[in-house]
This record gives sequence, C-alpha cells and structure tokens, in this order.
Amino acid sequence: MDCLFCKIIAKQIPVDLIYENEKVVAFLDINPVNPGHLLVVPKVHSENIAVAADDDLIALTLAVKKLAPAVCAVTACDGWNLEVNNGNAAGQAIDHTHWHIVPRRKDDGFKHWPGHPYAAGEAAKIIALIRENLMS
Ligand code: 5GP
Ligand code: ZN
Repeated sequence: MDCLFCKIIAKQIPVDLIYENEKVVAFLDINPVNPGHLLVVPKVHSENIAVAADDDLIALTLAVKKLAPAVCAVTACDGWNLEVNNGNAAGQAIDHTHWHIVPRRKDDGFKHWPGHPYAAGEAAKIIALIRENLMS
C-alpha cells in the first residue's frame, strides 16, 4: 500500500518522532499552521475515524490529552485546536487516520468557519434524518 504515514511508521521515511507508544506515534507536521503543530497517527492503517478500530481511537484521544498540554506549554499558546479532516472534500490529503494538534495564539489571525442559521423547518428535517440513519 502506498501510504506516506505507513512508511513513516515503518521507518522507511525518516521522521523525528516526538512520542510513540504501542498504538500511536506523534510527529511535527512538515507544513505547520503554527510552530508545534503535531500529527497524532495510529500505527495500524485505517482510512479515517469511521473505520478505525475503537482501541486506536481511544489511544489517539489519550495521546492528545498527554501531548496537547506539552505543546501548549512550550509554545506559550492561548489554546489549541484538535483538527480532524475526514474525506478529501473536508481537506484530508493523507488517507491514513490522523489528528492535528494546532497550538493557537489570540493574535494568530486565524478565523473559525462562518456559521449560518437554519431556515425554518430545516433543522427538524435533518434531526429526523440523522436519528433515522442511526437506527438503521
Ligand atoms: P490532512 O490534510 O490529510 O488532514 O493533513 C495531512 C498533513 O500531513 C498536512 O498538514 C501536511 O502538511 C502533512 N504532511 C504531508 N507530508 C508530510 C511529511 O512527509 N511529513 C510530515 N511530517 N508531515 C507531512
Ligand atoms: Zn497508512
């Protein structure tokens, strides 16, 4: 399989690992949003959260809990984003599950996505559809 993150995990492509345990690795994003931007990646290949093993998702969460405060402390961040892009339309470029830890500063200039209120009846429809889908 031609997967960049599998190659990094297999040490076929050198990278300075910041953290490693039985389930996950973490390393710097090569093209950071802000310095200290980390990628946390399960060792076992899966394409995205929807198909990743539950154990790997638990391990990712625990690794983020450990890593984010360390990144934040050394970058003197004011907050941090946990970003997960699922699917190419959502910005996923590497089809191996990975979570971004992005340290943020109050003055870094990045804006959150714009929100738009629902039209009348639109929210009720989508609520019903999602509930129905969850039950099928
Ligand atoms: P995605 O857009 O799939 O959520 O994020 C992929 C991330 O991987 C991007 O932020 C990109 O900068 C990073 N990336 C791509 N190639 C490499 C690489 O060879 N090494 C490292 N460390 N990061 C990479
Ligand atoms: Zn992979």
